[in-house]
Amino acid sequence: MTTIARNLQLVRERITTACVAAGRDPTRVHLLAVSKKFAAEAVIEAVLAGQRAFGENYIAEGVEKISALRLWQAAQPGEPSGATANLTEWHCIGPVQSNKTRLVAEHFDWVQSVDRLKIAQRLSEQRPTHLPPLQICLQVNVDDGVNKSGVAPAEVQALAQAVAQLPRLTLRGLMAIPEPAIDFEAACELHAKTKAIFDAVNASGTLHTPMDTLSLGMTADLEAAIHAGSTLVRIGTAIFGSRS
Ligand SMILES: *Cc1c(COP(=O)(O)O)cnc(C)c1O
Repeated sequence: MTTIARNLQLVRERITTACVAAGRDPTRVHLLAVSKKFAAEAVIEAVLAGQRAFGENYIAEGVEKISALRLWQAAQPGEPSGATANLTEWHCIGPVQSNKTRLVAEHFDWVQSVDRLKIAQRLSEQRPTHLPPLQICLQVNVDDGVNKSGVAPAEVQALAQAVAQLPRLTLRGLMAIPEPAIDFEAACELHAKTKAIFDAVNASGTLHTPMDTLSLGMTADLEAAIHAGSTLVRIGTAIFGSRS
């Protein structure tokens, strides 16, 4: 077994253990493998170990890897090019500037880092009609980090309503990257804030379809995020190793 395959197994075990501890169903927590700064070969190893969803922070790097994986998949025996569903699903989890929205709309399946209506509008306009709608999470600046992207908690409801109206996007949920907490309790408390916003927006009844995705938790705080209700953990280091 490769190191990546072994690491994936360990992360899946961590997710299951955290779900059991929190009294949650482990099939309701999905794993996003964050492959930023690792080569396409590392992604292929993860795919061969059964991983499907990958997260990238940098648009150009992500698009390059997405293309490499398409070529790799097309070259697999018994995989006539384009005839089968894609083995991989790609999430953009880094900041998206206006001049990058077209690349993102053309190549990614999800964008978890939408924090302005203008970016959402461009993504919707630029999403090619032959592709399914782009799946969207709003990034929430839950702990008021001054240097961080993300919509302020008080503005989530309005942005969610506006994004949900855009024709080529599907609003799926919220994402947050809080500052590292001092301990488990503190991390749980921070993640619970995002969960509360998520529940409040869904309970407001203003969305045609309720959000189903709460993207919380990375290598260091996966357990706290699951305790607070995460449905999607974004794990890089524990799968691929530390980034230089
Ligand atoms: C890098 C990154 C991750 C993964 O972080 P690890 O600590 O390596 O697991 C998750 N989410 C976002 C938004 C990131 O930028």
